[in-house]
Amino acid sequence: MAQFGIKHLVSGGIITNYFCTSKCRHCLYNCGPHWEKKYMALETAEDHLRTVRFMGCASVHIGGGEPLLRPDSLAEILAVAGNAGVSIEYVETNSSWFKDVESAARVLSMLRKKGLKTLLVSISPFHNEHIPFFKVQGVMDACRKARIKVFPWINGFIKDLSQLDVHRTNSMAVFEERFGQDYLFRILQRYWIHMGGRALDTFRPVLPNRSFQEIINENPGGCERELSDTSHFHMDLFGNYIPGLCSGLSISTKDLGQPLSEKGYPVITTLFKSGIKGLFDLARQNFEYTPARSKYVNKCDLCTEIRTVMVTKTIGGLSELGPREFYPI
Ligand code: SF4
Ligand code: SF4
Repeated sequence: MAQFGIKHLVSGGIITNYFCTSKCRHCLYNCGPHWEKKYMALETAEDHLRTVRFMGCASVHIGGGEPLLRPDSLAEILAVAGNAGVSIEYVETNSSWFKDVESAARVLSMLRKKGLKTLLVSISPFHNEHIPFFKVQGVMDACRKARIKVFPWINGFIKDLSQLDVHRTNSMAVFEERFGQDYLFRILQRYWIHMGGRALDTFRPVLPNRSFQEIINENPGGCERELSDTSHFHMDLFGNYIPGLCSGLSISTKDLGQPLSEKGYPVITTLFKSGIKGLFDLARQNFEYTPARSKYVNKCDLCTEIRTVMVTKTIGGLSELGPREFYPI
C-alpha cells in the first residue's frame, strides 16, 4: 500500500479562528466561546495561501469559528489572498456581531474593498439556538447595502425561523414543539451535516446505533478515501492541515507534499492503513482503551472517542491529535 501524503489540493478553506460566540450542536470543529481568543496571524495566512496555490488550488473560503469577530484581521487576510493569487469564494458568518444595518454595512463595505465578494450567512435551527434571526436578516440587508452577494446556508430554514420569535433565540425544544417531535431527526433530510464533532452527541440519540464490534466488523479497511480527500480540506491558524472532514486530526502544513512518517504520525498513518480496527488495536495495546459506550453512530464516533482517550492519557499530547480544545476533556 502507498504511504499516506497530501500531494494535491482541490478545494478547501482557511480557519482563521476557532473561538465563536455560539456553541452549535452540529459544529464539526467543536468551536465555541471556550477556545482561546486567537486569530490567524498574517504570516500564517500568507504561508497557507502560498501552499494552497503551489498545490494546485486557486480559490478557498474563509471560515471559523466566527471570522467576523475580528474584521480588521479578516480584512488583512483578504488583502493577502489577493496578492497571493488565491481568490476567496466566500467568508462564512453566523451574524452574531450584528448591531444595526448601518454599522454592519460599514464593516462589509470595508471588507468588500479588501476583496470580499460573497458572504455565506448561516441559517439553521442550531444557529438560532444562540443567535436571534433578526440579526441574520440584518446582515443580509447590510450585504445588499454594501453590494456583497449573500450565500444563504440554507434558505430552506427561513420559513421555520420566520414563524418563531425572530427577536429571541429558540431552543430545539421550541422547534420540536412547533414543528413536531421528530424535528431534529428530519433536519438530516434538509441540511448537509457531517457526522463528526458535536453532531455525534446531538444525533446519537435519534440515529440507529451499533456496538463497537459491529462497527469494526462493518469497516474492515483503511480510511484512505476519507483522509486523502482534498475536495473540502481546511488549514487553520495553528499551522495545521485537517485531512478530509476528520476534525481533531492535524497534519503540519510543513509536511504537505511528502509521505507522512509513521513515527511522526502514528495515529493518522494507522487510520490510513488499517482504519478503525487498526486504531482500536493501537489504543488497546498502548492506552488500555476499552469502549466507554455500548453504542456508536459510525466509525468516526468510535474514532473520536478513542482519540479523546489517547489525548487524555498522553503527557504532552500527540501533535497529530489537535487542536487540544477540540477534545472535550
Ligand atoms: S457551527 Fe459555526 S457558528 Fe456554530 S459553533 Fe461552529 S463555528 Fe460557531
Ligand atoms: S474513522 Fe477517523 S480517520 Fe476514519 S474517516 Fe472517521 S474520523 Fe476520519
